[in-house]
Amino acid sequence: MKQSQTLIPTLKETPAEADVKSHQLLLRAGYIRQNASGIYSFLPLGKKVLQKVENIIREEMNAAGGVEMLMPALQPAELWEESGRWFTYGPELMRMRDRHEREFALGATHEEMITSLLRDEVKSYKRLPLTLYQIQTKYRDEKRPRFGLLRGREFLMKDAYSFHASQESLDEAYDKLFEAYKNIFRRCGLNFRAVLADSGAIGGKDNHEFMVLSEIGEDTIAYSDSSDYAANLEMAAVNKQYDKQSPSGKEKEEVSTPDQKSIEAVADFFGTDKENTVKSMLFIVDEKPVLVLVRGDHEVNEVKVKNAVNGRVAELATEEQAIQYTGVKPGSIGPVGLSEDVTVIADNAVEAMGDIVAGANKEGIHFKYLQAGRDFEVSQYADIRVVVEGDPSPDGVGTIKFARGIEVGHVFKLGTVYSEPMNATILDENGRSNPMIMGCYGIGVSRTLAAMAEQFNDENGLIWPGNIAPYDVHLIAVNMKDEVQAQTAEELYKLLTDYRYDVLLDDRKERAGVKFADSDLMGLPVRITVGKRASEGIVEIKIRSNGESYEVQKEELTDKLQ
Ligand code: ATP
Ligand code: MG
Ligand code: MG
Ligand code: MG
Repeated sequence: MKQSQTLIPTLKETPAEADVKSHQLLLRAGYIRQNASGIYSFLPLGKKVLQKVENIIREEMNAAGGVEMLMPALQPAELWEESGRWFTYGPELMRMRDRHEREFALGATHEEMITSLLRDEVKSYKRLPLTLYQIQTKYRDEKRPRFGLLRGREFLMKDAYSFHASQESLDEAYDKLFEAYKNIFRRCGLNFRAVLADSGAIGGKDNHEFMVLSEIGEDTIAYSDSSDYAANLEMAAVNKQYDKQSPSGKEKEEVSTPDQKSIEAVADFFGTDKENTVKSMLFIVDEKPVLVLVRGDHEVNEVKVKNAVNGRVAELATEEQAIQYTGVKPGSIGPVGLSEDVTVIADNAVEAMGDIVAGANKEGIHFKYLQAGRDFEVSQYADIRVVVEGDPSPDGVGTIKFARGIEVGHVFKLGTVYSEPMNATILDENGRSNPMIMGCYGIGVSRTLAAMAEQFNDENGLIWPGNIAPYDVHLIAVNMKDEVQAQTAEELYKLLTDYRYDVLLDDRKERAGVKFADSDLMGLPVRITVGKRASEGIVEIKIRSNGESYEVQKEELTDKLQ
């Protein structure tokens, strides 16, 4: 491709609206443009990178037994009414009416659509298992679209759904897709972790998020520094000693999530921003500190604790002071022996929400959020575990570290939560009708691209790995007015293209400085510069990732590039 014939509008200045590296660089290097809040165009370079990511995903999905299809973004409301999500999804679901006043949603995800398709087309266990996927545009009216492609309102997702006649069959598909996900993110060169996640409202079976480790990540994860163990904070806080059975005798599956649901419920209840809720709260229960880790940006800088049994009130400026106060080191206690009448009041960090009152019973901590006379019960959970950095990892290998993560993928076992209400059933060997058992598997394709841009850059611009870069080679003619240079560049362009390199030729009549700066910004792996020494048949090769450069005779070029 000749640069004069495509659209790569680079920017000298960092756009003021972009506050993370990936967003800044994708804008500056001319990969994307914003059209409205959270809505982007992929310009030619952006589109090429997107396609490379898509193709890696396709290859791995196909290898894991997936079959590609495509479903509409525009979905009739009736489907969402059948699952119940029309009423529960909230304002993130984009809704609209057609000219006949019929209601539609723009797909935020496609469980309803695919379940209705399979319901109509598959009637017997003999037709299962099936793993279907698509790479398609999703719409979510995010409250706070931000960080460019990382949190858009229109974004590209790969979503897959698997259908099974038995739990074992689902387990098998899940394991395969789990491996496929690892391959995908590995091939993208990302530093990621597969994180044990909580399934929130869906009710947990297996559930993993794939998190790219990054300072700007919106999630916090706990991971072992020397094994594969990683969990989101909710799961890290669930005592893994009790994998199958909690001390209260409940199945692990029934342990509801401490944070996501309660925080969302509180935020909804008080009409506050979900992002603006406490990150971690230290409660003193029976004089033992219980660190409850919850999602959000807000630091807890003061916690006031009142023990209803003995009436002691402690005002704690920091978690450390809380530990001093009680003399119990977090991490050293298992499930806390809780009594019914402990009251904990936390304020300051939760001003916006009003006071939080947590009572405890033998099942676990029982939260109540109070606002002027009105009682509101939020959640209940068991087996809280204190987790701090440096704790031994639950798998016994290494110690716990915390890191920020970007959720690029999410896989979980849905079971029958869609097939049951939507009546998607199959007949088993004995002719009995059962709901299909489902799994679902998402990857944020555009978010993955941004996560890569976030990881692969330096002060001069992007640095793409070879398998993702929009072009293999950036060929630059320093001075297009110089006939020898122009001719040599043309000749090499043709040669390299014949050798199946995807070449971007900077044939613009720009100053050398501009061309080099743009080239660094775009981040193609190899730059070949045709300059003054073209008259001697010499050109320069420069590797973007390490800055190494050397001169070669143009005849040697293809050998050197091997
Ligand atoms: P998040 O927690 O970041 O809001 P999510 O859990 O709501 O994401 P899922 O429903 O699990 O997202 O969707 C599957 C994948 O789609 C996510 O793992 C993520 O990579 C991607 N994704 C979700 N929301 C967005 C968005 N607003 N912009 C870009 N990608 C997104
Ligand atoms: Mg979301
Ligand atoms: Mg999420
Ligand atoms: Mg998710």
